[in-house]
Amino acid sequence: MKSVRVVVVGAGVIGFSTAVCVAEALPFCSVTLLADKFSPDTTSDGAAGIMFAAQFPDIPLERQRRWFKNSFDHLLAIAQSQHSPEAGVMLSSGWQIFKDVPADKKPFWSESVIGFRVMTDSELKRFPEHKFGQAYTTIKCECSNYLPWLEKRFVFHVKLACSGQTVKAGGLVEQRKVNSLQELSNSYDVIVNCSGLGSKLLVGDNKVYPVRGQVLKVEAPWLQHFIRDGDGKTYIYPGMHCVTIGGTRQEGDRRLHVDEGDTKGILERCSGLEPSIGKAKVLGEWVGLRPSRRNPRVEREVVQLQGRRVPVVHNYGHGGSGVTLAWGTALDALGLVRQCLHEMPRQAKL
Ligand code: FAD
Repeated sequence: MKSVRVVVVGAGVIGFSTAVCVAEALPFCSVTLLADKFSPDTTSDGAAGIMFAAQFPDIPLERQRRWFKNSFDHLLAIAQSQHSPEAGVMLSSGWQIFKDVPADKKPFWSESVIGFRVMTDSELKRFPEHKFGQAYTTIKCECSNYLPWLEKRFVFHVKLACSGQTVKAGGLVEQRKVNSLQELSNSYDVIVNCSGLGSKLLVGDNKVYPVRGQVLKVEAPWLQHFIRDGDGKTYIYPGMHCVTIGGTRQEGDRRLHVDEGDTKGILERCSGLEPSIGKAKVLGEWVGLRPSRRNPRVEREVVQLQGRRVPVVHNYGHGGSGVTLAWGTALDALGLVRQCLHEMPRQAKL
């Protein structure tokens, strides 16, 4: 008999990662995941899914490094296992190039990726407008595969890639919009909020805002390496089935429809980096809203809901790095759930 009821709100990469971590680590908890949108309709589904992180201003670098490394190690184990094609997780080598030499030539995550080094002058010759570059191997995680794979892992038995051990998570999944945390307070002992941009309304957080991103999926099987401009706006990411090219970063813009001007701009900028993009067939276009915040919110609080003090763990606001940091922040959220359980009155745990 499971004695503690945990609910996770959100079925994007943050919600499913957190739900799996909690369900596998705390077998005495029954874990339910609630969301109004599931794959393929979440923001996570369309993300390019390359492991790369911007630095958040107010979070200790050591914590950000741990988020990145824990995520990288988790996805690397999947990329190197038989689960790789089904989970949509693969290694990806390439270049990040800069028009001006960046102040930080060795980003905080450089020791977590594989073979990070500065590009040689002869390698840079193919990018005549760029003065500096970094070459490394990272991971591409395609959420349109990864989310259904995580859902299966959450609900059924799964043999873990890292240890070979079989774990039964036994999670429950329900499609439903949550209008207020009050709705959950009588049915669950701990609430975990992974609602991304939805947190603006669900928990009244005005610090979370959208950053619109448009990408194209193109057929260009001859491209083997990723190319990312250091400004973060132009990138070419070969994947398992197609190449994702982008992009845009439009703060506060909530438009979810494809903008023809953006499409043209993406094709022009990407052809500037890799002229053969001009020959690629466009397979599709996609727009998503990054759930952005000055810093992601990974913390706990106790909220008074219908006369009860209910522990709430937040894990949202990852901006353009949610796929990258999902597993690392999910492990932190698991630690916060453990702390909530530790502080809970004894009878609530029985
Ligand atoms: P979402 O995927 O938006 O999921 C939120 C979930 O919460 C949904 O299931 C939603 O239905 C649910 N929800 C919200 N409110 C409620 C409610 N009230 N009731 C019930 N359910 C609710 N990241 C990277 O790391 N690498 C990349 O290369 C990358 N590329 C990107 C490219 C683009 C164009 C865009 C737009 C994003 C990219 N990102 C990338 C960022 C990444 O997509 C996000 O950081 C990540 O998807 C956030 O995940 P999430 O689970 O927080 O949010």
